[in-house]
Amino acid sequence: MNTKELLNILEKTGAILDGHFLLSSGLHSNIYIQCAKLLQHPKDAEKVGRALAEKFMSSGLQQPDVVVSPALGGIIIGHEVARAIKKPHIFVEKIDGKPALRRGFTIEPGMKFVVVEDVATTGKSIMEVVSLLRDLGGIPVAILTIIDRSDNKELPFGDIPFISLLKLTIKTYEPNNCPLCKSGSPVVKPGSRVIKA
Ligand code: ZN
Repeated sequence: MNTKELLNILEKTGAILDGHFLLSSGLHSNIYIQCAKLLQHPKDAEKVGRALAEKFMSSGLQQPDVVVSPALGGIIIGHEVARAIKKPHIFVEKIDGKPALRRGFTIEPGMKFVVVEDVATTGKSIMEVVSLLRDLGGIPVAILTIIDRSDNKELPFGDIPFISLLKLTIKTYEPNNCPLCKSGSPVVKPGSRVIKA
């Protein structure tokens, strides 16, 4: 899958919207991403998972013993990557705000893992997974995401190889200094109606 094919799937499923958006951070933006819109379609999820797995496998990195995702956003894409590389998939949840393995999921010391998430923005939830599994003796092999929207801000991944299918630069603006507002375009809260004319 090349970048154009991925962009087509993201656009076709409404996972990437072009326009003028109010983000949960309060900032305005020209692009909105919601990978769940793509991942709700099993065939598309499988395709993207396979593409991410293939990019990882062609990197020459070591094979992991297990694929791990942060809940919830990483679970479906993690599952699809795990299907493609024929490894088990587990996920990390937050219990009272702290990341934890539940449901009988465990890893043994020395086990190699890859972390799969839908989008890397700050890398914080990904590194919480890495830290938890390292504390249990796991060895990170790579971090995989569909989209890298870190916008060239340094991600906290250290020397762990990072692979994504698409790098997106998303401009964000303070509401009182937003060129889209100035152009008179209405701002939209994704998933709802127009909130300001
Ligand atoms: Zn605006």
